[in-house]
Amino acid sequence: TMACLTAMDAGDPLNAFVHKTPDIALDQARAADARLAAGDAPAMCGIPLGIKDLFCTRGVPSQAASNILKGFRPEYESTVTANLFGAGAVMLGKLNMDEFAMGSSNETSCYGPAVNPWKVDDRQLTAGGSSGGSAAAVAGGLCLAATGTDTGGSIRQPAAFTGIVGLKPTYGRVSRWGTIAFASSLDQAGPMTRTVRDAAIMLQAMAGHDPKDSTSADIPLPDFEAALTGDIRGKTVGIPREYRMEGMPAEIEALWQKGAGMLRDAGARIVDISLPHTKYALPAYYVIAPAEASSNLARYDGVRYGHRAALAAGDGITEMYEKTRAEGFGKEVQRRVMIGTYVLSAGFYDAYYNRARKIRALIKRDFDQVFAQGVDVILTPATPSAAFGLGEMAHADPVQMYLNDVFTVTVNLAGLPGIAVPAGLDAKGLPLGLQLIGRPWDEAGLLDHAHVLE
Ligand code: GLN
Repeated sequence: TMACLTAMDAGDPLNAFVHKTPDIALDQARAADARLAAGDAPAMCGIPLGIKDLFCTRGVPSQAASNILKGFRPEYESTVTANLFGAGAVMLGKLNMDEFAMGSSNETSCYGPAVNPWKVDDRQLTAGGSSGGSAAAVAGGLCLAATGTDTGGSIRQPAAFTGIVGLKPTYGRVSRWGTIAFASSLDQAGPMTRTVRDAAIMLQAMAGHDPKDSTSADIPLPDFEAALTGDIRGKTVGIPREYRMEGMPAEIEALWQKGAGMLRDAGARIVDISLPHTKYALPAYYVIAPAEASSNLARYDGVRYGHRAALAAGDGITEMYEKTRAEGFGKEVQRRVMIGTYVLSAGFYDAYYNRARKIRALIKRDFDQVFAQGVDVILTPATPSAAFGLGEMAHADPVQMYLNDVFTVTVNLAGLPGIAVPAGLDAKGLPLGLQLIGRPWDEAGLLDHAHVLE
């Protein structure tokens, strides 16, 4: 903890931390020392973490990197952070992210983008998004691990861009209570770590049933670290042909083959599989996620939380809502609220929202069928490219940015666990990740296969 705090004082060229909590860190570290001295050493005892700004932390600014939550200090602690602190973890501070977790480059943050510690010719690269600050902080050695959240890829894509491990658990495995909501049926928190073993240990501490979240599953937690046997003999790994996108860089294809080879060498059987509705995943996601976001973000009205716009004489409550939301929300968030409101409107509900829900059911059925045929895990690339330059997409069509999620959103739509593992470097020397997708509740099996790929 002291080493991390000293490093923090030296400045933060990665713009990873948006709020530092050295006093809390020191208190927690002392308490961890006392527990160790008393012979009580829980798994995360004294481990310095960064916490994504999406988690509510009691008394500490929790803004989801949005101006609309300026000054918001929650009265309560999210279940995830409470669980981690209970297991002895230390909070160094809050981490940068895309505003309300909407984005793939951390460039929608009100604090400006996080910077990837990896560089090409001194050009600054994105750390990915939305958990870009988490990825930058872990990859840059500013903390030992970080929390992330993943609605459509926000743990796995930044993990892949920075060469670290990122796990999105099965929907319901980790409580969403006290995590600022983006799209409630897709959001899931998970660990971002340097190794698969760290991910197993941290998931153990984060996860578990929580009566405060009605979608939290009341099923037992296996011992995730004990599941790292490296023995995957007799397992079946599926390679989905629909993920072989046209125009995919040859080096990603090569890496995918290499990953399949490593799993085969460890004794797994590799089979070709088909997930026929994959091509509809991105459009369905970009209807469902904004729909839920428009509803979740309705609560930021200038009354209950954070920012309220200055009002002119004669302004009424409508003007207060309008001005507050126009000032407080950034462009991408406003775009999502508008899309969401549109697809949920009476005239278009059936054409967009209902159709997207049907596609979602078909995507889930694709996975169910493959698992019913005996496939244990599915291997795909994590992202369609390595990290791109900061500002590079600024003038592109927003849909260009959405394409980053092409390999990850299916997993959220189906509620499955997925993990990104560093798999090698591209020709420019930038990290690339592979993704493993598992059966519902089989994070243990997923971690075991990921361990083989390390
Ligand atoms: N990039 C996706 C989006 O902008 C996913 C974000 C996330 O997983 N939170 O919605």
